[in-house]
Amino acid sequence: MSKNTLSRKGGVAWSEALATRHDGLIELRRDLHRNPELSMAEHRTAEVIAERLQAAGLEVRTGLETTGAETAVVGVLRGDRPGRVIGWRADIDALPLDEIPDLPFKSAVPGVMHACGHDGHTAIAVTLAEAMAHRRKQMPGTAVFLFQPGEEVFGGAAPMIAAGVLDDPQVEAVYGLHLTTQSPAGKVWAHPGPSMASADFFNIEVRGAGGHGAFPHLSRDPITIAAHIVVGLQHLVGREIPAQETAVLTIGQIESGTKNNIIPETATLRGSLRTYDQSVREQLLARLGSFAGAIAEAHRAEAVLGFEEGSTPALVNPADQTAFIRGCLEESMGHEAVETSRPVMASDDMALFLEARPGCYFRVGIGASDGPVAPHHNPNFLMDEAGLPVGLKVALHVMLSALEGGGAG
Ligand SMILES: [Zn+2]
Ligand SMILES: [Zn+2]
Repeated sequence: MSKNTLSRKGGVAWSEALATRHDGLIELRRDLHRNPELSMAEHRTAEVIAERLQAAGLEVRTGLETTGAETAVVGVLRGDRPGRVIGWRADIDALPLDEIPDLPFKSAVPGVMHACGHDGHTAIAVTLAEAMAHRRKQMPGTAVFLFQPGEEVFGGAAPMIAAGVLDDPQVEAVYGLHLTTQSPAGKVWAHPGPSMASADFFNIEVRGAGGHGAFPHLSRDPITIAAHIVVGLQHLVGREIPAQETAVLTIGQIESGTKNNIIPETATLRGSLRTYDQSVREQLLARLGSFAGAIAEAHRAEAVLGFEEGSTPALVNPADQTAFIRGCLEESMGHEAVETSRPVMASDDMALFLEARPGCYFRVGIGASDGPVAPHHNPNFLMDEAGLPVGLKVALHVMLSALEGGGAG
């Protein structure tokens, strides 16, 4: 349970400070939505963030390019009262999609779209920083706002951590939220334990020998071998991993051949692996290569495993931290707003921040209350913006409680 004396004493003043910012919050989200930028190339977005934080009086750190996080922005806000040092992380990148819905603030960039809600995450975090800066005299401790590029390629968290963003000042805990269309606006939840899956991307190249489609005995057909590998790989999940564990192994791409009567030289499979448990992850990663290799060898060919960029461990919310966040959610939104939690098979490199520090990643609903909604990463993705002030409100509550000492082990 959180002991949030500050919100009880000064809660009215703080919530008034938020009410005046709702229009600005929506406006900023729409501006970011209109101007989406791809992972690790969020130059305008980073500029907007840095300018706003500077104007609000935060110490702003940019230019982390030496570690590879050129478009990251860190804002440090020191309150006038004593307290802890707490991080708030928000991801800022968009996706390579052509937006379909004809919104007045539809993406102005062909082929790029905010279809995961990161425009909302950014707008909430900037507005949160501004609201807290405005009342820094009442604010305990130091808030560190971590604007992370490249979440969609799992490229931004690691270089930010390597650049020391958690070390100066020494951040004690990190929190953050992800908007979700799976819950209607007004609903929130936090799941304890493994909450999002690990992600690894791999390719398998089957090297056979080409030839005429009429004389397969004179070739070593990589397509037939690839088909055996695709089917066989499911055996790894179904017969080598305990039934109570979770693993998803998907081959999402097969590339081979030029014509219906030519047996090609090679076939390439591309796939992804997701798990909740690190030992399950390691076991499957270790088996992929030898399993595919042995199937190829049985067919007189060769299969070579390679890994592609962008991997992340499972995201684990510690039980005590999740209890603290659930307390905050109930205090700020009421008991009935807090939904039953569930793990999500998607992945997020917030996992790395939570490996580095205690903390919790929770969910805020932006789904429509009536009818079906397009999922995240879909060109028809739409958010109910009524969820944004909810996100801002709970984020402020979490930050103030944590700065005061809530969630401290
Ligand atoms: Zn996403
Ligand atoms: Zn996302």
